[in-house]
Amino acid sequence: MKTIESISRMSTYSKIVKKEGKSIGFVPTMGALHEGHLSLAKTARKHADVLVMSIFVNPIQFGPDEDLEKYPRAFKRDEELARSAGVDVVFSPSIKDMYPAGYATYVNVEGLTDTLCGAARPGHFRGVATIVTKLFHIVKPDIAYFGQKDAQQAILIKKMAEDLNLDIDIKVLPIVREKDGLAMSSRNTYLSPDERKDAAVLYQSLKKAEELMRSGERDAAKIIAAMTDLIKAKPNARVDYISIVDTKNLKDVTRISGEALIALAVFMGKTRLIDNIIIKEATLS
Ligand code: AMP
Repeated sequence: MKTIESISRMSTYSKIVKKEGKSIGFVPTMGALHEGHLSLAKTARKHADVLVMSIFVNPIQFGPDEDLEKYPRAFKRDEELARSAGVDVVFSPSIKDMYPAGYATYVNVEGLTDTLCGAARPGHFRGVATIVTKLFHIVKPDIAYFGQKDAQQAILIKKMAEDLNLDIDIKVLPIVREKDGLAMSSRNTYLSPDERKDAAVLYQSLKKAEELMRSGERDAAKIIAAMTDLIKAKPNARVDYISIVDTKNLKDVTRISGEALIALAVFMGKTRLIDNIIIKEATLS
């Protein structure tokens, strides 16, 4: 496995790989790797000749009061984990190369960015769409892998790839969870032992929604109310949002039919955690 820091070296490397007729699989990350990231890499490994993982904490997707400074960074450990997951190249550019002085170009996916996490994090998805576009141009993947953990991000990237005619197959893979159901996240390391224990309630509330639907409930407001009650019972928890939305356009649904995305963001102490499930009526019984 090699580590490439220079944008031009990465781009040249990808051009050579393509000339040789080989396919490139790509897993973009912000590092502090865990099994969620590694599951993407392990799947990508099976389908691509050359596997590139980027590790870049993207400053433009963090708001001014967010955790950019304290976001966990563990580069040496990440390199070892990436190697063990079969990554061929870790691409780790510097901030000043990615966003040199005078940088001025941003990508906006309209309509999908101001709801759910976008409502609480203005500019976040513009930052995500911009960095992913830049990384796509540099790495030139045939297939790129994203986690369902960031459901809104996955939908947005798919839309962007379609709208901009990017010739890249976007794959979205399932959420990897801890034993108690908590979705793995680099931010889980912020949690105190108490908060960590309470954090299992996010998944429990999603399972509660599923259970209600299984017993016939289709009224989104009622399901959200039951989820809210469950979460509020945890002293460390504060709901940011719980939404039941259409899986394509992310618009709220009032009565669930077909399939729906149930997504939530909850503060555990100061740490904002997200989780979601897609519920398909057809597979409920
Ligand atoms: P991040 O480093 O948080 O930007 O995440 C990089 C990629 O890993 C994104 O596509 C995430 O959706 C994905 N990811 C993060 N956590 C998980 C998880 N628990 N299960 C599956 N994919 C994940």
